Amino acid sequence: MDKLVAGNWKMNGGLASNRLLLDAFTPVSGVDMLVCVPYPYLSQAQQRTPSIALGAQDVSEFPAGAYTGEVSAAMLRDFDCTFVIVGHSERRALFHEDNATVARKAAAALAAGVTPIVCVGETLAERDAGRVMDVIGAQLSAVLEVLGVAAMARIVLAYEPVWAIGAGRSASAEQVAGVHGAIRAWLATRGVDAGTLRILYGGSVKPQNAAELFAIQHVDGALVGGASLVADDFMAICRAAAHR
Ligand code: PEP
Repeated sequence: MDKLVAGNWKMNGGLASNRLLLDAFTPVSGVDMLVCVPYPYLSQAQQRTPSIALGAQDVSEFPAGAYTGEVSAAMLRDFDCTFVIVGHSERRALFHEDNATVARKAAAALAAGVTPIVCVGETLAERDAGRVMDVIGAQLSAVLEVLGVAAMARIVLAYEPVWAIGAGRSASAEQVAGVHGAIRAWLATRGVDAGTLRILYGGSVKPQNAAELFAIQHVDGALVGGASLVADDFMAICRAAAHR
C-alpha cells in the first residue's frame, strides 16, 4: 500500500498565496498525496489541483439542520473531499472536543463516504507520567465504540504527539516505532482487521527527517502541518514517501 502524505494547512492561506502553492503541488508516483485546506478554499483547491486528493480539517457530527457555523460531511463530498481530519489536538485543546465528539465526527464522515483521519496522541505531561497508551487507548476506544469493529478498519489514524506539533523537533524514531506498534497491537487485540488501515505520523515532519520516519515499521504516511505550506518542503516529503 502506498504511503499517504497529508498536508494540513490549518488556518493559513489566501486566494493569491494558495494559487502559487497549489500550482507547485504535482503528483508523485508511488505516494498518495492529500491537501487539507480551510473550508472557503475547497473549491479553489478542487479546481486547481484535481490530481491531488482533497480534504478538510474538521466536520460536523450532525448531518444537516440548525447548527450555525457547522459544515456537514455531505457538503465536503460536494467538493470532492475524500478525507477529513477529526480530533486534531488543536481542536481537542482549543475547542474542547472530547473523545466522544471526535468519535461521532468520524462516524458522520464515514456515513457520507468521507474517510476520517482520526488524530490521537499524548501531551508531554502524559508521556512523562508513562500514560501514553492509556491516553491513546481511551481515544481509540471511544471511536471503536461508536464505529464498531468493521468500520474501524476503514479509517486512517494519525499519531500526533501533542508536544511534537509545531515544535520543530519530531518524536524520535524509537518513540514513533513504539507507539505505532502499540496501536497496531491494540487494534489487533480488539479484532480490528487493520491490514489496510494506515497509521500516519504527525509532528514536525520535514524534508530532513521524512526518510527516517517513513522507514519505521507501521508508519504508513505523514500528517504535515507547517511544512505543507512550503511547496518545496511538501514535495520533498512526498518524494521521500514514494515507493517505500
Ligand atoms: C499538524 O498540524 O498536524 C502538524 C503535525 O503540524 P507540524 O507538522 O507543523 O508539526
